[in-house]
Amino acid sequence: MEELFQINRRDFLKKSGLAAVALGFGTVSAFAKRDSVVQLTILHTNDVHSRIDPFPMDGSRNQGLGGVARRAALVKKIRSEQPNVLLLDAGDVFQGTPYFNLYGGELEFTIMSQMGYDACTMGNHDFDNGIAGFVKQLPHANFPFLVSNYDFNNTGLKGKTLPYKIFKKQGLKIGVFGVCIELEGLVNKKNYLETVYLDPIAKANEIASSLRNDQHCDFVICLSHLGYKYKENKVSDQILAKSTRNIDLIIGGHTHTFMKEPEPILNLDGKVTTINQVGFAGINLGRLDYFFDRDSGKQKMVSAVLPVRDCV
Ligand SMILES: [Zn+2]
Repeated sequence: MEELFQINRRDFLKKSGLAAVALGFGTVSAFAKRDSVVQLTILHTNDVHSRIDPFPMDGSRNQGLGGVARRAALVKKIRSEQPNVLLLDAGDVFQGTPYFNLYGGELEFTIMSQMGYDACTMGNHDFDNGIAGFVKQLPHANFPFLVSNYDFNNTGLKGKTLPYKIFKKQGLKIGVFGVCIELEGLVNKKNYLETVYLDPIAKANEIASSLRNDQHCDFVICLSHLGYKYKENKVSDQILAKSTRNIDLIIGGHTHTFMKEPEPILNLDGKVTTINQVGFAGINLGRLDYFFDRDSGKQKMVSAVLPVRDCV
């Protein structure tokens, strides 16, 4: 079984940035220095909900937090330090501020494109202007929307999303795919029309197996808008992790869960599937650094939740 190494978030933030890993994180530091080790830095957001500006200074709990300019600066800084970065989003880009009501999502997609997002999945609110409203904004997105468990064949989104995408970074093959939430009961049918919802667990298993076994991916990431967990027996990231094989990491959304650190869950093969989610509104940027040793096949991971505020 792969070895996971998680460090305390506060320590990580104190030392801020991966230069610190090379300097003093004991086992990870020694491991990371091996010539055979390749580092992959995964940055992620979810449920940004049209939050272009930071929250206003109005005494509310989130005042002053978030804002795309600062998130972009943070991402740019990390990219200047790390060669192999993936920037991902788990859906619900749309809805939440007048920017969406005025511009219908054009601004959100344009900014995400400029920030260099590599992929995104769809959330329920991304249907808020209907299928046509989403399709209308797609020309502003230079990154793919990964959706494996909606059948869009009888809708205007036919052929406009991908089930998965494979990224190559320094010889590593990283397969990324998306699973989305059941729309019935959550979204007005006039907004999703003839979209057919397919079982996310069956689809995830099918795609992850193909990515791992047929396409020989070294690492498989699921972008999920299913939600972290529920009291009732409804499919969630926790259930997805337990019920599948071949998924290394689930980047979640929908439940707006502020996870302090990623959660390791044993999958059907007894291997670790890690779940992470970073709240909502772009308040935090999630960061996971994986170190792959090509010689031994071992991997280690360090994670951090990076607050997006004016300290960049
Ligand atoms: Zn949602």
